Amino acid sequence: MPDMYSKKAAEAMKKRLRGKRCTHKCQIHGEQCTVITRYKDKKIQATVDALRAIQGAPRHTAESQHYCELCSMAMRENRPLDAFARDSKGVVYLKNAGKSRFYENDEGELVMCEEE
Ligand SMILES: [Zn+2]
Ligand SMILES: [Zn+2]
Repeated sequence: MPDMYSKKAAEAMKKRLRGKRCTHKCQIHGEQCTVITRYKDKKIQATVDALRAIQGAPRHTAESQHYCELCSMAMRENRPLDAFARDSKGVVYLKNAGKSRFYENDEGELVMCEEE
């Protein structure tokens, strides 16, 4: 059973985090970069700018390293950036794992499905 409240909260958060995406492609997978270069929500943009200033992180520009969805999945799991790949049918899979396959659910999220 999905928890309706947290699902709602997650969706609201997703909405707030919408913005202008970087239009470049990641060099490892050749897929569109998922970095948001400009958030629609001014408060979030201000927070991001403040964090960037504290960390001394440069702005994400054409010269920056671009991260696609596969890259960000790998980062979330502390794997090397090229850990995931997409096969000819568009199915994301973990290289060297063989059995783990990912598919996109109705909400466009990548979900892992275990095969026996
Ligand atoms: Zn980028
Ligand atoms: Zn990538």
